[in-house]
Amino acid sequence: MIEYKVIRRRVKYSRIVVKKDRVFLIVPWFVTNTDSIIRKKKKWIVSKLKEFESLRTDASRHIDINALEKKVREGLSRAGYVRSELKKKVTELCDLYASLLQVGYRKIFIRSQRTKWASVSSRGNINFNFNLAFVPERLLKLVVYHELLHFRIKNHNREFKARLKDQFPDLDLLERLLNYYALLLNQFR
Ligand SMILES: [Zn+2]
Repeated sequence: MIEYKVIRRRVKYSRIVVKKDRVFLIVPWFVTNTDSIIRKKKKWIVSKLKEFESLRTDASRHIDINALEKKVREGLSRAGYVRSELKKKVTELCDLYASLLQVGYRKIFIRSQRTKWASVSSRGNINFNFNLAFVPERLLKLVVYHELLHFRIKNHNREFKARLKDQFPDLDLLERLLNYYALLLNQFR
């Protein structure tokens, strides 16, 4: 049997959440047959657990996962400070790369978004993901450069890739690392 934790909430339907290597069952107050709910979804749960396990194995070749998780936990407890430090760092990098690429941007926002590291708005503002506070400097640089390069080249076409690679010769590895961080950080939050 799979180990899981029951969380009772004022919800209409039962829901299973797999976070890292832990399984949570969120149920309405009146539900009692929790084991059978879990049993029915066993296949899905096991595949989720395996997915995290293999991610952890791959990522652990490059990232100290326990240290990262600790950093995130501490960071979230003083999120305001972490956010303002990130904004400072990102602003410096934006200014650096904006002058290098001879482009101009308007405003910088730090957002707690889950899906993207960053994005540029049609007005010329740049949004950065709060999770960037927890990635190494070199990856942060790549993300910032990527966004500012969009002020010159809209799409991820061949020229875009080539320009990125000029600046970051180890681009493939860096992008793989960014994916690991994205997956891990979404699990830790
Ligand atoms: Zn892009």
